[in-house]
Amino acid sequence: MVGRSCALCGGTNNVTREHVYPSWFLKRWDATAAVDGPFSTKINGVELLRRDGAIATNPRIGRVMLDLCQSANGCLNTAFELPAKDPVRRLLDEGSPLLSPDEVHHLARWMVKTLLLAAHPASEHTAFASRRVNKKNTNSPWLDYSKKIADALEAGRLPDDATLWVAVTGPNGQPDPDYEPVYLRHTTRADDEGGTGHVRTTGFNLLGGDRMVLFQLVHHPLHDLTHPFRGTGTVTQLWPNAPAALDLSTHRLLDHATRLSHVFLESGFSQGLRAGERSVGNGLPWMQWNP
Ligand SMILES: [Zn+2]
Repeated sequence: MVGRSCALCGGTNNVTREHVYPSWFLKRWDATAAVDGPFSTKINGVELLRRDGAIATNPRIGRVMLDLCQSANGCLNTAFELPAKDPVRRLLDEGSPLLSPDEVHHLARWMVKTLLLAAHPASEHTAFASRRVNKKNTNSPWLDYSKKIADALEAGRLPDDATLWVAVTGPNGQPDPDYEPVYLRHTTRADDEGGTGHVRTTGFNLLGGDRMVLFQLVHHPLHDLTHPFRGTGTVTQLWPNAPAALDLSTHRLLDHATRLSHVFLESGFSQGLRAGERSVGNGLPWMQWNP
């Protein structure tokens, strides 16, 4: 039997199978577990939206598991879990606002970390396990997982060029704005920076209501982009530059049928950059040269 190896450093000492969404977070659903499903909750291994465009529901809460060494696990715990536990619970379970910049900062870092781990190709998703993985789905594992992401997480940091947004959906939410999709790119540069752009979107029900919160993470190495929904106030950037406070109860609502998870396309377009240069813009890479 082949021994386990750490998904972040490759080490084989003291490796254990860990919950990507930690036990303390999964407990939020214990109270509703006795109620008949399906729940308006999901952890996306495969799909965010149903074929008819509505938010997918799942009869059971999914687990995401990943092999991690003791050192990585300890680091993740200290750097991300401990400071986030209280703000995450208050925001998502109690529906209370976060009123200090520190709390929003810790919540945002935790969500970026969690989505980055869930995107790891070695992560095992129990939600929708029976369904075939659609390779073009924007919530598929990031097969060319960047070593820079792994190295950063192993050290309790977040990689550069990772941006997180939050949105809330609910009854009487507004329809999506007209928008052009954002083409994520594969960038290369002589200094060995760059990499492939990826997106991951996940959602949870806000307890005690019919609203859902959606978190959208984009890793966009050396690529400067803007969220097409930003001007409508329906998405709020949480990382980097977390806002000073966050209140989901007053956040502008999107309709449940939002196509938010389709806004960012993993286009496969490559762009070679000169020293110090960054790729700029939402469109296809060549459009920026002749705007
Ligand atoms: Zn490790």
